[in-house]
Amino acid sequence: MAENKIRLRIVTPVRELYDEEAEMVIMRSSIGDIGILHGHQPLTTTLDYGFLRIINGEDEIKATIFGGFASVDERGITVLSDAAEWPEEIDEERAIAAKERAENRIRSNDDSVDIARAELALRRALIRLEAKGK
Ligand code: ATP
Repeated sequence: MAENKIRLRIVTPVRELYDEEAEMVIMRSSIGDIGILHGHQPLTTTLDYGFLRIINGEDEIKATIFGGFASVDERGITVLSDAAEWPEEIDEERAIAAKERAENRIRSNDDSVDIARAELALRRALIRLEAKGK
């Protein structure tokens, strides 16, 4: 491994999204964005919904990450999340439909609607649309 780089693995229940080295990784922990470089002290944190940014020199790529947790140790960073995507993989129409469904549920007066769940679905949809530049 290059001396100034840190290994990053991103794993979801359905696949391994990433297993490469990075100069810096910025992730959305539940207490805010944290930047991790090679040699970072060991750490375990839960993740919020948001973007994980992978920086190599002038290059930056980002992935959407929806919860889960990250651990940092001498082997690198491991991110385990329920769902993670590259922007180009995101189906915009599906995200728009999910957004509308969630908004309708939140607006409805139906007592059987789980509002907290609908709000989480809305947040996921909005982040996916943001990843598409919307
Ligand atoms: P939906 O209601 O459209 O399923 P959701 O927010 O409930 O959206 P999740 O539970 O977050 O979906 O994700 C389930 C799986 O589907 C994950 O593997 C996730 O990466 C994928 N996924 C969800 N929405 C999209 C999308 N718009 N484009 C591509 N993949 C998606």
